[in-house]
Amino acid sequence: MGLLDGKRILVTGVLTDASLGFAVARLAQQEGAEVVLSGAGRGLSLTRRTARKLPAEPEVLEIDVTEPGQLAAAAATLAARWDRLDGLLHAIGFAPPSCLGNGMFAAEWSDVAVALQVSSYSLKALVAAFRPLLEAAGADAGASVVGLDFDATVAWPLYDWMGVAKAALESLSRYLAKELGPAGIRVNLVAAGPVRTMAAKSIPGFSSFEDTWADRAPLGWDVHDADVVARACVALLSDWLPKTTGEILHVDGGVHAIGS
Ligand code: NAP
Repeated sequence: MGLLDGKRILVTGVLTDASLGFAVARLAQQEGAEVVLSGAGRGLSLTRRTARKLPAEPEVLEIDVTEPGQLAAAAATLAARWDRLDGLLHAIGFAPPSCLGNGMFAAEWSDVAVALQVSSYSLKALVAAFRPLLEAAGADAGASVVGLDFDATVAWPLYDWMGVAKAALESLSRYLAKELGPAGIRVNLVAAGPVRTMAAKSIPGFSSFEDTWADRAPLGWDVHDADVVARACVALLSDWLPKTTGEILHVDGGVHAIGS
């Protein structure tokens, strides 16, 4: 018996088999879930290729979160296939190069707006598009929305406007938890330590996180191990945390709790 037996879950943000979303999709299938993926833009064909590496090849929907038409079309496609959605993984982040590694004064609003729309507002856009299906999961078992975060309570080196976008994501997840709780929908984030993915590699100086994280983490840390993050996501997608919402679960080897 799997943790997610009978669950129907939409996993966004699967680009390569290194993506955090890929690790979640694989584990979700192993735990009994039926999974659909989404991909975006030029990465869509790569998402389709990556989908073939999962234990069961899932359908791939096209969702660029900045395109309301694609969100609506994907929701209609999924509604034709499923009568409810039990889980939604938001694994989406992007910031233009000016927003990362250049301090806070290099980026103009137009670039910051892209970072905030894709990395923060998109949680609201996704949930809004799939809200009828999420509500159809019922108020008892309830649907679970999980997003991926990088601890935004402090200012990190080089993370710059992406850090601000993650702070907005953290706040938004709490507001969504408040508004969607009465419909039985939980909204939580997993604040992950650094894992070497495409998005991570695009952050200048990301290796400086990688080099120090394992030393600072009481439990140690492996930047190649996405499975530890996936396990937390799957737990939140399961029925085992039924009264947990608006929460940020740290999966970082314990770094967030340590002062130096
Ligand atoms: P990834 O494999 O590069 O995944 C990022 C995903 O975001 C890609 O599939 C990308 O698709 C998608 N995306 C970007 N713009 C989009 C848009 N407009 N519409 C829809 N999708 C879009 O990297 P990842 O590290 O797994 O990132 C997943 C999440 O984990 C992100 O929120 C990231 O901030 C978070 N996170 C990562 C780490 C880490 O160290 N890796 C740590 C903490 C949190 P395209 O490339 O095709 O646009």
